[in-house]
Amino acid sequence: MKRGRGGRRVLVTAVFLAMLAVGLPAPLLARVDVPDAETLAPLHYDFRRKGPAIKREDRWEELTRGVNLALGKPYRFDRQPNYGVTRDEGDVWQLTDGKLVPGDKIWFSKEAVGYQGADPPATICIDLGQVYPIDAVVARVQGGGAWEGSFRYPLQFDVYVSDDDRTYTRVDSVRKREYRDQRGALFDLPESTGAQPPGNPLPHPFHFGRLRTRGRYVALRMTLASAYGALDEIAVMKGDHDPAKVTFDPQQATTLLFDAVELLYPRDRMRVPTNVAGGFSFAVRDSRRDTRQPVTFHIDVPAAVTLSWSGSASLRSQEHARDGRPYREYTLTTVPSSGGLSYFYIQARPEPLGAMYFHAKHEGVRQPEQRVELTPFEIPPAPALNRLVFAHGWTGTPLQSRWPGGAKALRHFGFTHASVGSWEMPSFYGTPEFAESQKWLDQEARPAGLKVCLTDSPFHIMEALWAQEPDFAEAYGETDPPRKRLCLSYRGKYYQKEIERIVERYRRRRPDLISLDVECFGHALEHVQKCAPCRRLLDARGVTPVELATDLYAETASEIARAIGEAARALGQSPPPIGLYHASPAYRYHNVFDFAKLYPAGCQFDNPEVYVRCWPAAAAEIIRADKRLLPPECPVIAWTSPGTLDWEGEAPSGRLFDTLMEELLNGATGTLYYLPVHLCSEDLAAQAQVARLLAPFEEIVAASTLCDTEGWRQGDTGHISAIRSGDEMLVLLADYEHLGKTTVEARIPVERPVDAVELLTGKRTRLAPGANLLHVTIEGGYRSRPFYIGNRWRQRTGGSSRP
Ligand SMILES: [Zn+2]
Repeated sequence: MKRGRGGRRVLVTAVFLAMLAVGLPAPLLARVDVPDAETLAPLHYDFRRKGPAIKREDRWEELTRGVNLALGKPYRFDRQPNYGVTRDEGDVWQLTDGKLVPGDKIWFSKEAVGYQGADPPATICIDLGQVYPIDAVVARVQGGGAWEGSFRYPLQFDVYVSDDDRTYTRVDSVRKREYRDQRGALFDLPESTGAQPPGNPLPHPFHFGRLRTRGRYVALRMTLASAYGALDEIAVMKGDHDPAKVTFDPQQATTLLFDAVELLYPRDRMRVPTNVAGGFSFAVRDSRRDTRQPVTFHIDVPAAVTLSWSGSASLRSQEHARDGRPYREYTLTTVPSSGGLSYFYIQARPEPLGAMYFHAKHEGVRQPEQRVELTPFEIPPAPALNRLVFAHGWTGTPLQSRWPGGAKALRHFGFTHASVGSWEMPSFYGTPEFAESQKWLDQEARPAGLKVCLTDSPFHIMEALWAQEPDFAEAYGETDPPRKRLCLSYRGKYYQKEIERIVERYRRRRPDLISLDVECFGHALEHVQKCAPCRRLLDARGVTPVELATDLYAETASEIARAIGEAARALGQSPPPIGLYHASPAYRYHNVFDFAKLYPAGCQFDNPEVYVRCWPAAAAEIIRADKRLLPPECPVIAWTSPGTLDWEGEAPSGRLFDTLMEELLNGATGTLYYLPVHLCSEDLAAQAQVARLLAPFEEIVAASTLCDTEGWRQGDTGHISAIRSGDEMLVLLADYEHLGKTTVEARIPVERPVDAVELLTGKRTRLAPGANLLHVTIEGGYRSRPFYIGNRWRQRTGGSSRP
């Protein structure tokens, strides 16, 4: 990675891969501090391509010269396009209509076809009408990391052909390169990894050539690498060979399902905790025409494994024998929601396990079975934390309250807060569900030592609650043409009701920490320029639009904070700190241009997004940029997307360890999770590990200042982060560019002899002025190594060799 001083990062990117550095399997029940790379890797990838490499200079016009068999032909999806900006009735013909979207931002065009949500992989299958000789498939796909890194090139493309729509053969496959030591069938096109500023949008014609194959059906499967994907055209180029002489590799034969429900898991292995219940999610691909019909999911596990589900439908189980071994089959009948089958809890007895098998059955059809190999592991518990924050974020209590083992299990992983989710409406208060969740908070979570974190979406909820009222129009700005967009200077009845609603939520839940997403300010600058009441205010106050946008946000936030503060004091509580979701000083998602106006009256901690799919270097950059701009006493608590078992491809689970470490060693004191349903057992283990390693040093993390690590690195590999408090430092040496074994070296500026202790191993080195070279070998699933630098190890850790 090259990093300019000006902050713009040029990153030759992202992905993972064919794990060529094969680690040994984890020994049964060993306390594995650093999971081996293979455990955390996605599916093994070793396709041998025959065709030319994917090249930056490839041009659609050249690649599609000849006979395009796909032109005007019908196609099917196994996942319906669902990106609102591109979606229209033309989605079912635009990919073969021969028309390219002009320009580089194809995701803005109705002529394109787009997906929102990375999972599950999306397949487009073209029916050529009869069997043809096929030489190439070309697809023009958006990438470049445009728009906050969201439109990235897919992680993987697979091309399939079939004569009969029953047996498909994979004839080409290519994967994105993420690491310098990654080999195999890879492409490598420049794009942003997702921290701001965004990269340059660039649709690329992906060329799968020299196929010399045949088929009537041609399918292109894309495993998306980020939350969005878009393409605008697919060509299938006719070959001049004899189709009768084509042979197929039986190893590549597969079934592609259309008009079906598939239960999917992104890896072929899973580790299952033995001493606490962990978790995982399945993805569901539902390509049926009528998705309202119920589906029965069958999940067959060794009898030593216990499953339960966070959803409300009942999970039934029945013991049986499978290959002579005791198994338990769980069945769940439900109408699956798009995307996923929410959270399963899983725990196993400490013994060799075998495989988990699963399939879906619907409309009388039993879909093919999938298999995941299970191995047991132990997750050492996290200690109690006093200063750091780990909370579920946007999640209501059920996912947490149904956790087997109760709130103590959450403490086991290092969670400090239970979370009450965002969208609790006033009508919820009278329900048994509300009483049940409050009882869980009062009688289980708090006694177990968890505090409570509340998230809310002010004004968004106001609109949802009262937009149907006849006089609600007063809350919208007057624009020409009129648009139903909330006026940011509106202070009328519904504004007051909304503040009262938030205060009432506070009174009911009594949270210790609040994160508010004041989403309506996302368009603040544009709004104050177009809205008549706001323009009048511009004149009256004699300020610029930028100033008004900032002032209105600060006023709104301060008013909410003041109202909550009063309510807290009336109840004899101290007012909880409030953070504003991504009202981040470095990145202007919410159009806050002057953070000093917001802090501390309107918000008391900074709450930036780190939705970079656990690309740890980008997380470091985001947190660091904010920390630099904030007053030193302002805490930073990030919003993190685990980005691991979420099909978004980019992040082997170890990335959560690395990302949390980068956040905490760049000035953050904790994180809220954006999509907690994606916290798999490996992520929970990583969080517990981070909590364990940093617990003795919480004070350093909480009172830290950033070290300028520029120039510390020796050699051409490594990423270095460091914080300091007094004469102690926490330093993170990492290598996010390689997967295999590498060495990172750094010169640590020290003024006198000090200890450098590697937290994971307890290995101690003595550093001194002039002898300050610290080096570490990095291998395995975690790519970062934290160090304590100072002379108070014994006092901090109670004398133990390791935290
Ligand atoms: Zn307005």
